[in-house]
Amino acid sequence: MNKLPKALVVLSGGQDSTTCLFWAMREFGAPNVEAVTFDYGQRHRIELDCARTIARMAGIRQTELPIDTFAAIGGNALTDNSITPEENARDDADTTLPNTFVPGRNLIFLTFAAAFASTRGIDHIVTGVAQTDYSGYPDCRENTLKALELALRLGLDSRATLHTPLMFMSKAETVQLAQEVGAMPALAYSHTCYNGAVPPCGRCASCELRAKGFLEAGVDDPLVVRTQGGEHE
Ligand code: ZN
Repeated sequence: MNKLPKALVVLSGGQDSTTCLFWAMREFGAPNVEAVTFDYGQRHRIELDCARTIARMAGIRQTELPIDTFAAIGGNALTDNSITPEENARDDADTTLPNTFVPGRNLIFLTFAAAFASTRGIDHIVTGVAQTDYSGYPDCRENTLKALELALRLGLDSRATLHTPLMFMSKAETVQLAQEVGAMPALAYSHTCYNGAVPPCGRCASCELRAKGFLEAGVDDPLVVRTQGGEHE
């Protein structure tokens, strides 16, 4: 009999959430894992295709849920076509928020994920947020996640537990973890670029961070190999 608890992974189709999906399959056993993907009106609809492809490759049940309020609020480069994503990763001294910050996104995602999980008898929720190497997003910090976990437990009267396996990892360590848990083939179909480009643009802050991580880990990015290597889909 299967004794491990069930887990729900918030899968965006990006590098970190894809790594977390395979981490969860190792920790909880693949049959106990499912994924939720939010359609929040992101400009780059390719993210949703990537998440579907990755869930299919992993053999994991995936549910897509709509949240259209972020696009209505606007004011950020990920949901508003009139705003161009900032280029180049920021240095630590810069404390302003980049225009790719979608205010409240992780709070809402995790609250909906916890609500969805509670209807399915799932206590464990996995998210790929990290406070190291992050772009200055306050809702990726551990203190935010701990406070939210407490609020979810109280508000849902549940034992909701938020797992953040990447929280204190550098991007290079995240690449090493992806190798350990067998996520590399799926990472060839992940999507990170803020400009929605395939092959990735290589210039935006998100591409820069991703490339730096693979470089430091001494590993070729399977997405770059797939999309620039002339391989047919
Ligand atoms: Zn890019």
